[in-house]
Amino acid sequence: MSVTQQQVLECLAKVMSPRGVALTNANVLSPITVSDGKVFFSINVDAAEARAWESVRAQAETAVRAIPGVSAAMIALTAERKAGQSAPPPPRPAGGVQPASAHRHPQPPGGASPMARQADIPGIAAVIAVASGKGGVGKSTTALNLALGLRDLGLRVGLLDADIYGPSVPRLTGIRQKPELNHDKKMIPLARFGLAIMSIGFLVEEDTAMIWRGPMVMSAITQMLRDVAWGTLDVLVVDMPPGTGDAQLTLAQNVPLKGAVIISTPQDLSLIDARRGLAMFKKVNVPVLGIVENMSYFQCPECGTRSDIFGHGGARHEAERLGVPFLGEIPLHMAIRSSSDAGNPVVESEPDGPHAAIYREIGAKVREQLKGAIAAA
Ligand code: ADP
Repeated sequence: MSVTQQQVLECLAKVMSPRGVALTNANVLSPITVSDGKVFFSINVDAAEARAWESVRAQAETAVRAIPGVSAAMIALTAERKAGQSAPPPPRPAGGVQPASAHRHPQPPGGASPMARQADIPGIAAVIAVASGKGGVGKSTTALNLALGLRDLGLRVGLLDADIYGPSVPRLTGIRQKPELNHDKKMIPLARFGLAIMSIGFLVEEDTAMIWRGPMVMSAITQMLRDVAWGTLDVLVVDMPPGTGDAQLTLAQNVPLKGAVIISTPQDLSLIDARRGLAMFKKVNVPVLGIVENMSYFQCPECGTRSDIFGHGGARHEAERLGVPFLGEIPLHMAIRSSSDAGNPVVESEPDGPHAAIYREIGAKVREQLKGAIAAA
């Protein structure tokens, strides 16, 4: 049975808002997207009222999930702060209330670490970001293979595909199922290759993901971080959206990150972009664990000969110059591309090969830097 927008509206008409009228009459709802049994919309309120609305968001989500035929519901609460208004209350640990204007104030008053406002996620020792200054540099491929490299080192690892504009983890892992809900109505991450995996791409089609904008992005990602039953993990690898715009900055600021890994290709342009990535994490006091040079050199699949077609070594020098660790160089190799595109990443498909060894070496350098957090947990 297919669910209609009308059914969702009828269900929301029974949810009372703090304004004393039904949710559907409170003039706060975004357009409702219903796609293949999955329902998405946001409740847009003033930041000063956000706290009062969180329980309404939760009630609405529970009610929508109870509609026969609904397989998933993601309802974001977005809070817009009016000009001249004082700061909204700090984000709550669950539920996804984020001030839309947060990105305009990357540093909280007094210069305290924004991390101080971020509650850790129970059960997860360290959340790390894999980021790039621009798309197409192999960020997602590296995030997944790095997660597998960390797994091979004996760690319990999760992967969150937060690349909301173009989630590629479903393709890279071959996962086609949707996550199910547990008894607490939390989404159960998909298990593949010994990793706990969650992606917005499991819930929406790629073109639907494109309509998530601004505060909705953050709200959806907060839910994927906090309303997912991750279990106990040593490391959760977050595949960030590419670039260094407002959405990325807000994300870097609002996810409780222990560190970030920057992926760059050797071309100068991409290094300039990588520098922007470094600056972004610096701004929000997230330590940069290091730079990885991807597609560093071309390795012929026939004869194994190495060619430095892009003028290799730029990222290593840049890392030295900027005083951040250089984590390693990954060749441009057919096996990495074809295995990724077939949903069977190279660390999994060729565990004894040279590429898997490189990802494990990078993983070991990352683990070394996180060992305090992992041991403390
Ligand atoms: P991003 O997440 O930065 O947009 P992807 O991880 O989706 O990039 O990679 C873009 C393309 O490049 C994919 O087809 C992927 O298989 C390929 N790719 C990534 N890294 C390598 C590599 N080291 N060698 C060969 N192909 C690669």
